[in-house]
Amino acid sequence: MLEATGLMVFYENMLALNNISIKCEKNQIVGVFGANSAGKSTLMYTLSGIMQDIRKKEKMAGGERITIHGDIFFNGKSITDTRPSRIARMGVILCPERRRIFKESTVLENLKIGGYLASRSQAKETMEYVFKIFPALKELKKRTGGFLSGGEQQMLAIGRALMAQPKILLLDEPLLGLSPLMQLTLVKATKEIRDDMGLTIIVTEQYARPVIPIVDYAFILENGAAVLEGTREELMNNPDVRAAYFGV
Ligand code: ATP
Repeated sequence: MLEATGLMVFYENMLALNNISIKCEKNQIVGVFGANSAGKSTLMYTLSGIMQDIRKKEKMAGGERITIHGDIFFNGKSITDTRPSRIARMGVILCPERRRIFKESTVLENLKIGGYLASRSQAKETMEYVFKIFPALKELKKRTGGFLSGGEQQMLAIGRALMAQPKILLLDEPLLGLSPLMQLTLVKATKEIRDDMGLTIIVTEQYARPVIPIVDYAFILENGAAVLEGTREELMNNPDVRAAYFGV
């Protein structure tokens, strides 16, 4: 489904991703766990191709030089040099860290914007599904995005990403700053979305514990390198790993 080999990203001289290879099979939920600054967002930006745009913008502005190495394949086809808009069209959709919803626009408008890649019937069907999975959003259709709670904004961010008709959804720290109850709601919804839509999902989090029950496979990042990987069972059956990374 999605595979990256030997990914290296430098911000100027700072190595943010250090030779990362990750693989994600169809229909899997893959977790990427790591502390602040471990490289989670850099990885998500790189996988979605957005890093290329960031690099170009930095270059045009005469700013720092970003260097990207390695290869990315989607369904066996190289997307390493594919433009991010095209990658999105292929179905690799990023739901970025800190939601990044359009705060001036209503819930409905946010969802419609997300559906720009979809046909009318797909957009209609997906919107119904978003309201089914997140009933709270249905009640808030006309509410301006900026007035939603953190949890509602995250639901909206996921809903908006779904509107783009993903085949693989990249969720960057969806639980950041949310209450344990809201975290649980979102974790359950993530699994349901995977099951209902047959999606593949890569989810990053600082703390693995709330997400580990739904992941099939996980990678642990430290200082930009993948120091550990395995199935949920493999990771959970290792007492050192459990104690060090999952707090159980
Ligand atoms: P967080 O949990 O804080 O979001 P993260 O695991 O997502 O962390 P990244 O945001 O990928 O980590 O950052 C990895 C490293 O790269 C950090 O040291 C960060 O300071 C640095 N970094 C990220 N973006 C830039 C940038 N545009 N320019 C320079 N350094 C950057």
